[in-house]
Amino acid sequence: MSHPEQSQQMSVAKGNCLEMLRLILDGEATEEEKKNFIDKHLETCMPCYRTYHLEMAIRDLLKSKCGNHEAPAELIENIKRMIGTVR
Ligand SMILES: [Zn+2]
Repeated sequence: MSHPEQSQQMSVAKGNCLEMLRLILDGEATEEEKKNFIDKHLETCMPCYRTYHLEMAIRDLLKSKCGNHEAPAELIENIKRMIGTVR
């Protein structure tokens, strides 16, 4: 699964990384993928770093506004669209 030639780079190919980030944010990535991505990739990829932290900030905000319940996915999507993290 891990090839030596990949070990110097993160395992996420450029161009695919925002897609990977999307999977992580949607909870569809494995724990390992998530950890690897957050630990290694975010440090080197500004778009992902910004999107990830923006997303986390939005979720925190919505959580506090919704009395610590999980905000409706629809509401999150609307906000993301407004700030342009989703096409
Ligand atoms: Zn990236």
